[in-house]
Amino acid sequence: MRALQLIEDRRLELVDVAPPPPPAVGEVTLRIKAVALNHIDVWGWRGMAFAKRKLPLTVGAEASGEVEAIGPGVSNLVPGQLVSIYGARTCGLCRACREKRDNLCEHVGGVHGFHLDGFAQEKINLPARLLVPAPPGVDAIGAAVAPVTFGTVEHMLFDNAKLEPGETILVHAGGSGIGSAAIQLAKKIGCTVITTVGSNDKIEKAKALGADHVINYREDRFEGVVRKITRKKGVDVVFEHVGKDTWAGSMFSLKRGGRLVTCGSTSGVSTEMNLMMLFQQQLKLLGSFGCRMENMANAMQKMAAGLVAPVIDTEVGFDGIDAALKRMEGRDVFGKIILRVG
Ligand SMILES: [Zn+2]
Repeated sequence: MRALQLIEDRRLELVDVAPPPPPAVGEVTLRIKAVALNHIDVWGWRGMAFAKRKLPLTVGAEASGEVEAIGPGVSNLVPGQLVSIYGARTCGLCRACREKRDNLCEHVGGVHGFHLDGFAQEKINLPARLLVPAPPGVDAIGAAVAPVTFGTVEHMLFDNAKLEPGETILVHAGGSGIGSAAIQLAKKIGCTVITTVGSNDKIEKAKALGADHVINYREDRFEGVVRKITRKKGVDVVFEHVGKDTWAGSMFSLKRGGRLVTCGSTSGVSTEMNLMMLFQQQLKLLGSFGCRMENMANAMQKMAAGLVAPVIDTEVGFDGIDAALKRMEGRDVFGKIILRVG
């Protein structure tokens, strides 16, 4: 079977690998349907790994698959079923896992596509407990974007930032996969949504997703526009994932007691911070990584109900992956790039 592997930095190859053996106890064999690309793939591709890993490595951190075979002891899945795949190999035994907070697992074995082989391959064996069934009305692409694109954002907005109806939120990079999900999820509960984009052609697209105010950050300082829109009050919540380039402005955009939730740092991992602003303004800084499996199920329920929908930039096959990663790196994307596998 085919697998897309990172051979060395910036070099991906489609290689022939042995298909998985019959599923062991508690496992299923999945036929991978779609893989959604993320910045973590770009980091891996660039070789910006800050963790030990062995190359070659099969890429792909976020995907959906169809159950092909079930191993002994698996009772919650049947062959032919479409599932969304949890992206990390959690232990299932520690307190966090038993409380269904897998992203806080104390013995996590790594993130697929980064530390462990990922999902850009035709078949894979995985523990059934890490698979979330897609409800009727959710297709292979919807299930593929449930773990990172929608699950991460559900966890950030509702578990961590505790976003409430009627609040105002600043969503950075509304054209990114998670930005486009955050706009929709916040708008659907009745928030006022301010977002930033990097080009004027993305403004109408962001408004179509539900953004009330769209700022081109290349033309205006977003923090100044946010102060103006909120009549100098600031927003309740900032949705961060840009990091270095936006951090100071994000803190300045918050109202007193506001919450900043972050899951990424695509522009750089280190920055200076005004600590006086942090304590005097009583800001809350919340780090977020991954999600609970319930976040994936909730996201897919919202898709099935027609409340939110994945925003797809392009779909590619195995042969289009290099161009797709370059496109992502150049921020020339609105929504997700999907790799069709099966
Ligand atoms: Zn665990």
